[in-house]
Amino acid sequence: MVADVERQQFIDYIRNRGMRVTPERLALLEEIYRQHGHIDAEQLLDGVREAGHGVSRATVYRTLELLVDCGLVQRQRLGRERWLYEHVHAGQRHDHLSCRSCRRVVEFVSPAIQAMLNEICRAHGFSREERQLQILGLCEACADRAQRERSEHTPRALEAAAG
Ligand SMILES: [Zn+2]
Ligand SMILES: [Zn+2]
Repeated sequence: MVADVERQQFIDYIRNRGMRVTPERLALLEEIYRQHGHIDAEQLLDGVREAGHGVSRATVYRTLELLVDCGLVQRQRLGRERWLYEHVHAGQRHDHLSCRSCRRVVEFVSPAIQAMLNEICRAHGFSREERQLQILGLCEACADRAQRERSEHTPRALEAAAG
């Protein structure tokens, strides 16, 4: 469920841009807050259509742009081809560790990173609109497996020689 304060933030944002607050846009807001985790635009479109709204694909993409722009939604590629979207929990920004092998995504919140980014933007007089911070690599399980596979494929004699 989207909280009243978040719905109002979106409505104010749309009105300030001289745009219309349409039932479709509000339905998309509801839907992205109903779904949890990282979803792509197609999943959002399916969800909102299942809820009985006639929404075009173009409206989904345009509304997602607005939601990202007003800070209610984050988007990341998370090791995929397509953008993935998720609502922001109570205004709290988080970042991602993304395993390129099993595609597990770990979220973390770091006030230290937040403070550092604020400082960097300030130092450069940069007005930030969107933040995308993602670490790509291997999770612990996949790194262990890769390590085991490497050692299985290394002949014992070579291993011994390498010490
Ligand atoms: Zn993994
Ligand atoms: Zn996330």
